[in-house]
Amino acid sequence: MALELFDSKEQKLREFKPLTSGHVEMYVCGPTVQSEPHLGHLRSALVYDLLSRWLVASGYTVTMVRNVTDIDDKVLVNAGAQDWLAFAREVEKSFDEAYKNLRILEPTHKPYATEHIEDMIALTKKLIERGHAYQAEDGSANVFFDTASWSRYGELTNQKLENMEGEADASFGRRSPNDFALFKAHKPEEPESAAWQTPWGLARPGWHIECSAMAKHFLGESFDIHGGGLDLRFPHHENELAQSASAGDRFANFWLHNALITIQGNKMSKSLGNGVSVSELSQQGSWAAIRYWLLSANYRSNLDYNRASITEAQTALDRIVAFIKRAELTRAVDMNALPEDFTAAMNADLNIPAALAVIHEQVRLGNQAIDAKSVDLEIYFKAVLAMIHVLGLDFALAEVEVSAELELKINQLIAKRNQAKKDRDFAAADSIRDELARLNVSIKDLPDKTIWSING
Ligand SMILES: [Zn+2]
Repeated sequence: MALELFDSKEQKLREFKPLTSGHVEMYVCGPTVQSEPHLGHLRSALVYDLLSRWLVASGYTVTMVRNVTDIDDKVLVNAGAQDWLAFAREVEKSFDEAYKNLRILEPTHKPYATEHIEDMIALTKKLIERGHAYQAEDGSANVFFDTASWSRYGELTNQKLENMEGEADASFGRRSPNDFALFKAHKPEEPESAAWQTPWGLARPGWHIECSAMAKHFLGESFDIHGGGLDLRFPHHENELAQSASAGDRFANFWLHNALITIQGNKMSKSLGNGVSVSELSQQGSWAAIRYWLLSANYRSNLDYNRASITEAQTALDRIVAFIKRAELTRAVDMNALPEDFTAAMNADLNIPAALAVIHEQVRLGNQAIDAKSVDLEIYFKAVLAMIHVLGLDFALAEVEVSAELELKINQLIAKRNQAKKDRDFAAADSIRDELARLNVSIKDLPDKTIWSING
């Protein structure tokens, strides 16, 4: 069965065929680096990481662009008195660290908006020439996209312009409240360094034009897949499409949108104060378990977080790892060992719950084969190994990569440390932690046990 993906523009499953045979080009909206990553950011990055891994496993080469929006209203506000660009780079580090911990692969290109201002100016000039953008009627350096000039406006989200309410601050020389900023005139209260010389005066780019310009810079007039979170569909992606299409580009062939994360059934939001930070999450299980959990729902369904989420994921993952360890066979990934059911699940618009069910079924059969001393064990073992490799979960095996002798030593040290903590001898507990660190072992205290892993 060929790969089918749900194209959210066409609102249907379509067979995926790249525009260039054997090669896939993908643009994914990266973070606005204004504050630490939340679960929604991680889920979104992970979904496209998984898609990319699956495309590679299917024999394609992949070019992936994931931008960094380092200039934005909120970056300037949140930077406060600090240098805004230094602030943006600092926030970006927290994203990179979370991506690295979750084994989200580096994209092929990671462009900064601030390094592509010329591309944005060129695209905006083109839109003005073609009659789809205009400099503000008040003579400022604001430049707006003229939504009324583009009859296809609303095509991504299937809306009609006359039914749209438009932005609330319909001024600054805007012709219509639906028109959106391509460039924003420099404001005296903002730092000079946050404005660039443009044909319309000192200004900085709007968010939407950044992605259109960077996608074109790296991928040209058309590319295969545009991805992002459901919350970006409107207005961000609608506006990206309007800019690029009215400039004469074909733009994305497929639009993919991942659903959001809910917290005990509720929308996650700052105003509700129910956000879960990455560091809170990492207190509850290993990074591999967090990756497992973030992957566990279909990407088009909301993923609900509750107190038991990570513990449950850890238990499920431990079951897989325990089988691999118990099999005592040489671990070499053989992609030919992928079971057909697994391939079919992945090809069905990345049906991860079904793919995980195949893994657990093969683990069950593999454990039975061990009990029965059956030679079939090798088939199940190779299948499980290949499947967790495709899902990027094989780093969960890192803790298995130690000698029995070292493992015994680590467990003894952890037991000693837990006793020291119980006795409130924190100096001793700390020195044991240091000793473990010298063995290249990190430990994490969970409510009911201490888990460990080998660094690197
Ligand atoms: Zn974008």
